[in-house]
Amino acid sequence: MTKIVIVLYPDPESGYPPRYARDVVPTIPSYPNGQTAPTPAAIDFIPGELLGSVSGGLGLVDWLRGLGHEVVVTSDKEGPDSELDKHLPDADVVISQPFWPAYLTPERIERATRLKLAITAGIGSDHVDLRTAIDRRITVAEVTYSNSISVAEHTVMQVLALVRDYLPQHQIVRDGGWNIADAVQRSYDLEGLDVGVFAAGRIGRAVLERLAPFAVKLHYTDRYRLPEDVEARLGLIWHESIVDLVPHVDVLTVHAPLTEETEGLIDDALLAKFRRGSYIVNPARGAIADRDAIVRALESGRLAGYAGDVWFPQPAPADHPWRTMPHHGMTPHTSGTSLSAQARYAAGTREILEAFLAGKPIRSEYLIVDGGDYAGTGAHSYKTR
Ligand code: NDP
Repeated sequence: MTKIVIVLYPDPESGYPPRYARDVVPTIPSYPNGQTAPTPAAIDFIPGELLGSVSGGLGLVDWLRGLGHEVVVTSDKEGPDSELDKHLPDADVVISQPFWPAYLTPERIERATRLKLAITAGIGSDHVDLRTAIDRRITVAEVTYSNSISVAEHTVMQVLALVRDYLPQHQIVRDGGWNIADAVQRSYDLEGLDVGVFAAGRIGRAVLERLAPFAVKLHYTDRYRLPEDVEARLGLIWHESIVDLVPHVDVLTVHAPLTEETEGLIDDALLAKFRRGSYIVNPARGAIADRDAIVRALESGRLAGYAGDVWFPQPAPADHPWRTMPHHGMTPHTSGTSLSAQARYAAGTREILEAFLAGKPIRSEYLIVDGGDYAGTGAHSYKTR
């Protein structure tokens, strides 16, 4: 018997299941790079259902219990008395989503003496201490590409929302007002602006593709350049580093993983190099930006807006300054957990578990750490060079 601890965000306050707005979500068979969408042997849910909260159980619970495994599903993950901590010592597998991460710190991993597999239902495994996972030969896997396009769409939405100043205009309507001058005093067109993408991987490249039709001037930086034909087709202007990029853009979107290199990268010194009135949309990881430097830049006008959906820590405390800073368009960590995305990463989590329980190899594109080293996608994306 395997013990599987699944840490998920709490159910809706209005109860579970919610009343769904739509009946179906489209099936996406493969991703832009040709990788197939998850291929589990079966699924026990209807795509489009809320799977990421406790009662949704990622659609795994009946299947796993039916196989005789012990399954714990909880949202209680903080502090030494949490359900997560109670069950860690004899857990074989821990599953959580970046939206409600079960932080697997070195101390927690030390107590999880039976832990063999940590699955990120979604993308981004920086909530797991990968160095310790390597030392302990724990496999870390995530559902690569499952929600990349979801995040790219959210990014485009937030770029437009900031530049056009959508949220305050909407609030004026809700408040019963109609002062057009109030509504447009910070509203601009995106057309013609310089937009820079920091890290053109799966999400960053999808953002570039989606923004190109807005007739913006597109810039980017990454460790490696995109193929020449892609640069030519999208009219991309390459910059050697983020420091070289930011003086040339009005909007920066951030899509690099959180690593030792990127943590705290957007600080006072970098923000001083931005054009006055720039916008940042960061759906990568909150800790890539210096929290208080962002607040200062919005207050001084160096930044005209900041949005994204990632915070540090998560959930953000009620007094997190990003909740109340001026000109922000933050959401809770939602971009990668649309109901459409949940169907894919729940299926991918099941695919990973099916392989693990059968003693078969996990698809290399899902692997971050395996066999005592970075592996698969992790060898490319997480290894700091
Ligand atoms: P990818 O691995 O496809 O792309 C990341 C890119 O960042 C790669 O091109 C990589 O370069 C580049 N990169 C890494 N480090 C640096 C650096 N120091 N400087 C410049 N470029 C760098 O990842 P995704 O596009 O799928 O996801 C990006 C991040 O988005 C994830 O790490 C995750 O944190 C976040 N994410 C957020 C979600 C949300 O819900 N908000 C959901 C999914 C992901 P190279 O090719 O050399 O490795």
